[in-house]
Amino acid sequence: MTLLTFRFAPSPNGELHLGHAYSALLNQRMAARAGGRLLLRIEDIDITRCTPEFEAGLLRDLEWLGLRWEQPVRRQSEHFAEYQAVLDRLIAEELVYPAFMSRGEIRAFIAETEKRGRGWPRDPDGVPLYPPLDKALPARERRRRIAENMPFAWRLDVEAAIARVSAGLSWAEFTDETMSATRAIEAKPRAWGDVIVARRDIPTSYHLAVVLDDTLQGVSHIVRGQDLYAATSVQRLLQELLGLPQPRYFHHRLILGPDGRKLSKSFKDTGLAALRQAGLSPQDVTRLVGL
Ligand code: GLU
Repeated sequence: MTLLTFRFAPSPNGELHLGHAYSALLNQRMAARAGGRLLLRIEDIDITRCTPEFEAGLLRDLEWLGLRWEQPVRRQSEHFAEYQAVLDRLIAEELVYPAFMSRGEIRAFIAETEKRGRGWPRDPDGVPLYPPLDKALPARERRRRIAENMPFAWRLDVEAAIARVSAGLSWAEFTDETMSATRAIEAKPRAWGDVIVARRDIPTSYHLAVVLDDTLQGVSHIVRGQDLYAATSVQRLLQELLGLPQPRYFHHRLILGPDGRKLSKSFKDTGLAALRQAGLSPQDVTRLVGL
């Protein structure tokens, strides 16, 4: 029998807050109830924003909270060669293309389109979809720009990707944390347009690293915040494209700040370190997040 496997996957680009505590403790509780495993993964591909100090702080906070996870901890920055191998496959299959437009150029393109009275679609996070210009660049021009060291990112050709996988992409979402029932959710990867799959200097992106790591670590149950619900569409498409198994999902409620908004890492007063210093116990935090 294979054990159900859960994971908590924070990014060390700031301090953990109550929202992370809820997610970590909920994963631990669901894993314990299922007699399953709990893994910890450090999502530190953004080597400019992630630091060893934040990572040390995060481990300290999680230990203090009472989280217990299996060793070894997977640190994404140590696995760039694995991501590169998969990226090379996507490049060879022409499912990704180099995208050269800067933020300013994208803005100008959209402003121009909107001036002509046409709206421009935004993704579920409100970011404008990537314009279709670079997808049409001839191979020679792409090679020339890359040889000239122009900055670029590898973007998924979402239409080509959808055409490659079977129709009717969906995922199984648990209806609550007891995992007694799931419902099928239709994946809508087009909503994100041609997402970034890798950078010139970093051979992966959040989406690509997550789907590969969840497979490599044997994660069967992904429990994470509602803020990543829409991202699941892109991740399901990548899983199908790469022939990866499909985990089950539970997107939990978010812990909101006093202003009713999602907590962020700059929200000092709900940071776990600050709460600990203010004298709260791990039990207080557990109660505060409603567990
Ligand atoms: N590293 C992501 C974050 O900090 C979570 C990734 C995931 O759970 O899929 O928000």
